[in-house]
Amino acid sequence: MPRDPVVVVEPLRPRARCAECRRGPLRRMVAEPSAPLCLDCAGLGHLVYLPRGDAALTRRAREASGLWAVVVRHDRRRTRYERRGVLVEEAALARAEAACLADAGARARRRARDAERRAAEDVRFTAALEAEIRRLFPGCPAGRAAEIAAHASVRGSGRVGRTAAGRTLDEGAVTAAVRASVRHRDTPYDTLLTRGVPRRQARVRVAPAIEAVLASWRR
Ligand SMILES: [Zn+2]
Repeated sequence: MPRDPVVVVEPLRPRARCAECRRGPLRRMVAEPSAPLCLDCAGLGHLVYLPRGDAALTRRAREASGLWAVVVRHDRRRTRYERRGVLVEEAALARAEAACLADAGARARRRARDAERRAAEDVRFTAALEAEIRRLFPGCPAGRAAEIAAHASVRGSGRVGRTAAGRTLDEGAVTAAVRASVRHRDTPYDTLLTRGVPRRQARVRVAPAIEAVLASWRR
């Protein structure tokens, strides 16, 4: 079976008539060397038009179609052809659409499975982080440790629980998460920032208060 496509031309200003049945002016035609033909006379009348834009659908429809044609339009200067779409057998297009839908369904199911697995991982990680916080800071109130762990593990947050060091429960990273929480909750750091105190200066001002809380939690 020949797989080379027939080229169907969409003239910018249709004026040609079909050389066989005299129908016209032709909006789409096969430009035979001798004379233009309408799609019916060229044996393409049964094909359906699929505009360009969905590469997977176009490829599948072409592959399933015994006969197909590429539809092109002249550009303004008529120096090149602009590809508009394809003409394919209707049954081939239906099969291609079904295959693409099945793909979309499979992708959606995989996304759902991935999300479920990540949620389970998150729960396990948050629990491990909380346990590590309580091991390093036995004096930290239980609810607070859980809160810090949950906050630090929020996906997409870029917080310490999402970093490589945090994921391995590196002591420095765990301590950094606790320190960040104490800075915001137990010191006037945020108030200083809203009052316009530069960030670095604010950090220096609250550092002793943070270390005092951490020291009390370590006992
Ligand atoms: Zn004709």
